[in-house]
Amino acid sequence: MILITGGTGFIGSHIAVACLAAGKQVVLFDNLSNSNIEIIDTLEKITHQQVSFIRGDVLDQDLLTTTMQDFGVDEVIHCAGLKSVPESVDNPLRYYLNNVQGSLCLLRAMQTCEVKTIVFSSSATVYGMPSYLPYDEAHPTNPMNPYGSTKLHVEQMLRELAQSDHSMKIMCLRYFNPVGAHESGLIGENPKGIPNNLMPYITRVAQGELPYLNIYGTDYPTKDGTGERDYIHVMDLAEGHVMALDYLKSHPGYGVVNLGTGRPYTVFDLVNTFQEISGKTIPYEIAPRRNGDLSSYFANPSLAKQIMGYETKRDLKSMCASAWSFQNQLDIQ
Ligand code: NAD
Ligand code: UDP
Repeated sequence: MILITGGTGFIGSHIAVACLAAGKQVVLFDNLSNSNIEIIDTLEKITHQQVSFIRGDVLDQDLLTTTMQDFGVDEVIHCAGLKSVPESVDNPLRYYLNNVQGSLCLLRAMQTCEVKTIVFSSSATVYGMPSYLPYDEAHPTNPMNPYGSTKLHVEQMLRELAQSDHSMKIMCLRYFNPVGAHESGLIGENPKGIPNNLMPYITRVAQGELPYLNIYGTDYPTKDGTGERDYIHVMDLAEGHVMALDYLKSHPGYGVVNLGTGRPYTVFDLVNTFQEISGKTIPYEIAPRRNGDLSSYFANPSLAKQIMGYETKRDLKSMCASAWSFQNQLDIQ
């Protein structure tokens, strides 16, 4: 039985679908601070299976312990966390409490219940300013904001735990830029308020909820001057977690693995592909660079392939098409 913390969130919900599709059992644990309970019904509709859910906070170690005991949990995927970079700059202690202390409570509950396996949602943001690209897992880590620091602190805690207990099976997955939605269009990324990230912003412009896209900087040293990122389809990302759990079964210890495609795309690549698949025009205005943005970063995905045979399957068109399909479903609801 797999405990998925943050299981009703954007990535956690897709991981739940991937786990159930692989014949695994899951219990989702979430305080619903950035997601909705309705997602459980939707997951049941997609998977035709019953989905167990506990509403709770990862800071509540006792509830985590009883949940693990009641459901016979033997593996954990830890997605619960706060993820806004600007918010973490304004309120770093909230981020340390939720992300670092929350992870500590989870690990202590796992220790009580002798649960040895955990896959952690880390981020490429731990690398910071690129010394070279693509980033491989040996690239120095130097996060540029408190959000990234919390991810690195948790990675360090996990590494030291694995050093102290050789039966632990731990993998930190450093996500690049997850976008898109499940192919049903029933679950996806639905941020509250005005989106910070590019893909949800584009879908809301396409749908008419926002008037135009701001393109933050056209003077970067990239092919068209706009920022480059390694966008990965959220279902590819989700399937990576299933493969990570399978890998850990026969590989105790601690590991860090990038989850990206290795292919960078610019803002204009995304806008143009989205326009092509949706038939919508995305009006845009050129705006100054966004504070703290890097020009370009993308993954070296070879370690994931080498150790667990992982390769992404879905292209940029599929990312845009599924994100658009999800936006349209939202409008119907
Ligand atoms: P999300 O906000 O959609 O999902 C996170 C979920 O965690 C939410 O449902 C929220 O209610 C829950 N949560 C937050 N704090 C909690 C707490 N204290 N106790 C219980 N539940 C709590 O975000 P997401 O995009 O699905 O991200 C999932 C994880 O992946 C996060 O840890 C995030 O930092 C990491 N990550 C995300 C991205 C990205 O671009 N989306 C990139 C790299 C890493
Ligand atoms: N971006 C943009 N307009 C937006 C949001 C993002 O031009 O409204 C750009 C941003 O400058 C970056 C890329 O799109 O070059 C990806 O940004 P996102 O916030 O999605 O990911 P992150 O910067 O966190 O990797």
